[in-house]
Amino acid sequence: MQHVTCPGCGAPVEFRSAASVMAVCEYCKTTVLKDADTVRDVGKMGDVLEDYSPLRIGSSGSFQGRNFNVIGRIQLRYPAGFWNEWYILFDDGSNAWLGDASGQFTITFEKPAPPQLPAFAELKPGQSLTLAGHVYTASDVRTAKATGGQGELPFQMAGGWQAQVADFRYMAQFVTIDYSEPAARLYVGQAVSLAEIKASQLREPDSISDTSGRVKGKIASLNCPHCGSPVQFSPGATSALICPACHSTVDVSAGTAEVLAVGRKVAAIPLSLELGAVGKIDGAAYTVLGALKRSTLDQSASWTEYLLYDAQRGFLWLIESSRGWERATVEDLWPVWDRPDSVTLNSRRFGKSDDYGARVDAAIGAFNWQVAVGDTVRVVEFSGGEEQLACEISDSELTWSRARRVPLDQVRAWFGQHVHTELTPHPSHAQTAKGFLILLAVVDFIPVLFGGGLTFMIVLFTAAFIYLPALYLDAMEKRA
Ligand SMILES: [Zn+2]
Ligand SMILES: [Zn+2]
Repeated sequence: MQHVTCPGCGAPVEFRSAASVMAVCEYCKTTVLKDADTVRDVGKMGDVLEDYSPLRIGSSGSFQGRNFNVIGRIQLRYPAGFWNEWYILFDDGSNAWLGDASGQFTITFEKPAPPQLPAFAELKPGQSLTLAGHVYTASDVRTAKATGGQGELPFQMAGGWQAQVADFRYMAQFVTIDYSEPAARLYVGQAVSLAEIKASQLREPDSISDTSGRVKGKIASLNCPHCGSPVQFSPGATSALICPACHSTVDVSAGTAEVLAVGRKVAAIPLSLELGAVGKIDGAAYTVLGALKRSTLDQSASWTEYLLYDAQRGFLWLIESSRGWERATVEDLWPVWDRPDSVTLNSRRFGKSDDYGARVDAAIGAFNWQVAVGDTVRVVEFSGGEEQLACEISDSELTWSRARRVPLDQVRAWFGQHVHTELTPHPSHAQTAKGFLILLAVVDFIPVLFGGGLTFMIVLFTAAFIYLPALYLDAMEKRA
């Protein structure tokens, strides 16, 4: 470890890794550059935004049998959100990056970049890249701005820079190519959970709440800065809000509420599940945070997607369509798309069942990305008996989700009286009975004409016998 004195304020600044070339003074945010044997002040570093991350400088963990400490951090922002790259130092002196994108974590190591990497401008989500014998698929391709830094870093970043990065996945394996410099850098690793890497020395929920005013994961309420209506969201988990009352888009990613776009006046969106409703699902209390109305580009089908959140379990989607209800989760373990018409996941094969364009027609509530009406993606669906896999591809992202049918009675059991399924009407009992009676009348028409009074009386009696109980059932349902 090397100790230097901050040229800005005189406080001690530590360089724990030999690979670090700069450090940000904890006290005055001066960027201290380690240049040969001298230190230089290269200006103030932009502050990192409060993002409710459980990690901090000083957090520790273990990966593949080696212990590490978190010694630095850069924060990158793009139009729809932001993420952190934590710089970690292993006990043996080697370094890696711990990526932290709203609760999804990866550990990657820098490797020598092969000469024939694709150019950034040519990359699109879904494109494949063969690396060390595996066919990776591009999952994220985006331009971001490195806006803030903390602690020690292996390169100079005073003032920030424009970053061009592409992520690739193969099952749980993860690759990032960073195109920010003329020579692309390659990072190879895998998706991890904080439990798997035994992360410790994390921030206490109290300290997160002290700096941000709210506790991560707990459902909080704020008043829409545009119209004042209360809106529920989950600090740190959701970054964008669309006010249910005025449809303004509000950015809450930085701990403050900032209006990004004022909404157009639109009619209220009818929903079967109210925003804020809590459902007991598999023993956890999930809150409905957001709702999306989507339709196919050819307008042949439309459906509603509800975003649910529980602090321990994370996000869950409930989808209501003419097929009924489905529950879906976004997957970190990717299926392998090895044939044009099928994919495999956990050695099970799923056959391609649909391929269409989908558009967001309306959105209200809180989301874990900046959603906008008009957003369009291509959806490719695969079916494997009970389960469906869906691949959604946009200009900057490719995601996989896994869905399973849920009977309406199950949704009712979860949410009780918060389910308003009269919005997706089924024919009333009386209408069904009427349909049946018309058929009966047609069949009986000829005998009634020729058979005289007795047959007619029987038909009339039968009709009353069918129609009156149906009316009674409808009345009972209305009361319920
Ligand atoms: Zn200082
Ligand atoms: Zn509002």
